[in-house]
Amino acid sequence: MSASGGRKLAHVALLPSAGMGHLTPFLRLAALLVARNVQVTFITPHPTVSLTESQALSTFFASFPQIKQKQFHLLPVEKNSFDPFFNHIELIKSSSHLLPPLLSALTPSLSAFITDMTLASAVIPITQAISLPNYVLFTSSAKMMTLFLSYPTLAGSRVLDDLEETDVIKIRNLELMPKSLVPPPLLQKSDNFLKKSFMEDSGKVTESSGILVNTFVSFEFESLGKINDGEVLERPPAVVAIGPLPPYASEKSRLQLAWLDDQPAGSVLYVSFGSRTALARDQIRELGVGLITSGSRFVWVVKNNIVDKEDSQELEEVIGHELMERINEKGLIVKSWVHQEDILSHPAVGGFLSHCGWNSVMEAAWHGVRILAWPQNGDQKVNADIVERIGLGTWVRSWGWSGEMLVNGAEIAERIRACMGNESLRIQALGIKEDARKAVGFGGSSDKGLTELIGMWNQF
Ligand code: UDP
Ligand code: UDP
Repeated sequence: MSASGGRKLAHVALLPSAGMGHLTPFLRLAALLVARNVQVTFITPHPTVSLTESQALSTFFASFPQIKQKQFHLLPVEKNSFDPFFNHIELIKSSSHLLPPLLSALTPSLSAFITDMTLASAVIPITQAISLPNYVLFTSSAKMMTLFLSYPTLAGSRVLDDLEETDVIKIRNLELMPKSLVPPPLLQKSDNFLKKSFMEDSGKVTESSGILVNTFVSFEFESLGKINDGEVLERPPAVVAIGPLPPYASEKSRLQLAWLDDQPAGSVLYVSFGSRTALARDQIRELGVGLITSGSRFVWVVKNNIVDKEDSQELEEVIGHELMERINEKGLIVKSWVHQEDILSHPAVGGFLSHCGWNSVMEAAWHGVRILAWPQNGDQKVNADIVERIGLGTWVRSWGWSGEMLVNGAEIAERIRACMGNESLRIQALGIKEDARKAVGFGGSSDKGLTELIGMWNQF
């Protein structure tokens, strides 16, 4: 720790996991910490899976010269999963024995270490061995955390089993959770990456010094309360809601959004399924038909491949010539990374057709943009359920998981019209925006949570 005017300042190291959904909240947290005079070392697993991640890192370090970057060179490993991001998580974990020399070389010595829940089982033992306070940043919802923390117990008691009669699961004193919300791999009998990861990481997360979560109290009051009251685990680590993690200035591209600038306030639907979800080709085309038929204006980000580096097809090849021409009359369509922050903060944008990745949910709340939820996989149905219950959006549950059915254009159009025309939803979303801003504003619940943590780190 360094002394500044006689006061000790905390030095915190952050280690993110793979994919923009995990990197972005770490970058935002780092920006928030330096703004509060914490010294930050940001450890970057190298190489990254996507081009977008490496570009985001370059822009970030150029904007925050006071943040120290430490590259963590990963060892090559055999690929076990079909998912390149999951493979990368394995790669980071299996290279973790290289972390101790990297950490001990840091000066001043660290006050705390923050890593992603997906890396907990590999990283927490390392920090425990050197008695370094270790925190986990949980990048999904608190509701998802209830499932994550209780998963080893649930799996042990067979309540998750596919063959069980009941279609709900019971997490101790929590409300029953329909199995239809649970990420399908967690219900499978056969081994898979997500199951293994939940089994290994959950137990280690409970040994951490605390869990930070990108949510806010009024948004997830019940889940946060139940975890901290010991209703999920008997003795949980302290769970501190610090969200929504606000976007930092250089996340804005400052590109001219000329087309958006010309649209009436609140009239445009933004359509995106996040950084790593590609819809099937026939579903992409039905979505195109739905957007045109809805009569709404739209900005549509088409994703044709999980990893950007592997996507060489032109947009017109994906969409088809005729559909492409019709789309160009009504909206803006792109097949590249966009700065979601630019779009959600634009006054013309009034709705978000979203897969409900947790960052997207928090960003919609931050900007008060109503959501039409179309979860595809993973934690997204749990998140969509939260969105619907809190009144930030609507969700057509019958659309199922990705690939379960082909949702036709006419139905998509009808749901878009209903969402964009829903005045009470628009007003509710604006109320949620106010709550989100209050939570991170001076004296708000998330502000207080982070201030207390930093106070503790300053003492260490
Ligand atoms: N994002 C973006 N531009 C895109 C796609 C995604 O800026 O074209 C950002 C989005 O704002 C969010 C993150 O990437 O911060 C995606 O995280 P999320 O949890 O929403 O979904 P995931 O990509 O992990 O499924
Ligand atoms: N997850 C996890 N451990 C892993 C991989 C994923 O805890 O090794 C979490 C993930 O962050 C989310 C849920 O499991 O809460 C479902 O993961 P998904 O397939 O959506 O991947 P993500 O895009 O969130 O990494």
